[in-house]
Amino acid sequence: MAGMDTSMVIVGGGIGGLATALAAARAGLPVRLLEQAPAFGEVGAGIQLGPNVVRVLEGWGLGDALRRVAAFPTQLEVRNALSADTLGVLPLGEHAVARYGAAYATVARADLHGLLLQAVQTHAVDLQLATTLAAVQQDAQAVHLQTATGEQLQTPMLVGADGLWSQVRQHLLPHSEPVATGHLAFRAMVRQDALPAMLRSQVITAWLGPKFHAVQYPVRGGEWLNVVAIVQGHAKGDPRSWDHSANAAELRARLANAQAPLLDLIHTIDDWRLWPLFDRPPMARATEQAQGRIALLGDAAHPMRPYLAQGAGMAIEDAHQLTASLQAQPAHVPAALAHYAQTRWQRNARVQARALRNGQIFHLGGPLRVGRDVSLRLLGARLLDLPWLYGYRA
Ligand SMILES: Cc1cc2nc3c(=O)[nH]c(=O)nc-3n(C[C@H](O)[C@H](O)[C@H](O)COP(=O)(O)OP(=O)(O)OC[C@H]3O[C@@H](n4cnc5c(N)ncnc54)[C@H](O)[C@@H]3O)c2cc1C
Repeated sequence: MAGMDTSMVIVGGGIGGLATALAAARAGLPVRLLEQAPAFGEVGAGIQLGPNVVRVLEGWGLGDALRRVAAFPTQLEVRNALSADTLGVLPLGEHAVARYGAAYATVARADLHGLLLQAVQTHAVDLQLATTLAAVQQDAQAVHLQTATGEQLQTPMLVGADGLWSQVRQHLLPHSEPVATGHLAFRAMVRQDALPAMLRSQVITAWLGPKFHAVQYPVRGGEWLNVVAIVQGHAKGDPRSWDHSANAAELRARLANAQAPLLDLIHTIDDWRLWPLFDRPPMARATEQAQGRIALLGDAAHPMRPYLAQGAGMAIEDAHQLTASLQAQPAHVPAALAHYAQTRWQRNARVQARALRNGQIFHLGGPLRVGRDVSLRLLGARLLDLPWLYGYRA
């Protein structure tokens, strides 16, 4: 019979799981984290962090660490991929700080993951690698877990931060498999000094083409450039192994009608990784975020299309709110998790829905595409700025 541990158990050591471990440990809550991989790590790609997310990280004392590894682009520009015309510009840099009280940052995922891990390791968090959660049961008093090697654990509270294919979600919400979006992401990260001068950039650029778009931005203090190109189609093979080495020729063929400099960038970079993108419909109720003594967080709760660049951001906001809800009612886990779910699910649903809509707008063709471009030219920053998103205080 397994002994009852008073620590909360977090399953998953990605950005969401580590953020939760850090927030909880900072609040003095005992934490045990289980990660299936034999070592902590993140893939070589970038991630954008809006002011809503940077604000949370700064509140956790990570501002200096973030400034050491991130880039802070001066603007977001949206360009027509077929003409290279600039359609709209959103000032970032100092403008974002003045408007939202926090910066808009772009960072390599491994750097963000690394700084979260380093911060977690300054606390007494029990980090257990090579440990796969295999089964979950809950009753009124506890959650009962079993790992793939047969180890049994009991905990007063379980956080499923185990990503898109979440085992914890499978227990709470059976028969809710992720859905293939029909979009594929080609990703690359390259040193800027390895690129011709005209391809280097310190701003975020979103290129909109019919049935494809691409986004590029600096990371690592501006020394590296992250590029992601999204095309429509389905990948072969097991969808769970979502990081395939990609065929550069296929990407070049898909973007053949793009203009320079995007076309040149696609041709200069040889080393692409391919991700088939999956999501779920936007959340419809609070019970998709928590039930009883089990909370879902990040992609386990609300995987989304990356077209608003906020999936990890929402995981970080979730982590912050979960800890606040637990601090408010430390002796009543189900009540605290119900509060967490009520506070988070509509925000997450709104971000999921907006990301879905952005993807449709980004890939428009024909007359609708012309209309979109005219609106962007006329309204520019007013369309691109999202105060409800960036001004949110988790
Ligand atoms: C192309 C692309 C671009 C993106 N760009 C952005 C962006 O600019 N900004 C942004 O905020 N977000 C972005 N995102 C979204 C972001 O990457 C995800 O939302 C985020 O990484 C989810 O983190 P997570 O911790 O919830 O899940 P994951 O990162 O999937 O972590 C889950 C962890 O759980 C572990 N695990 C799984 N099952 C088990 C088990 N049974 N037992 C133990 N451990 C387990 C896994 O090994 C993994 O470490 C992008 C996504 C894509 C695909």
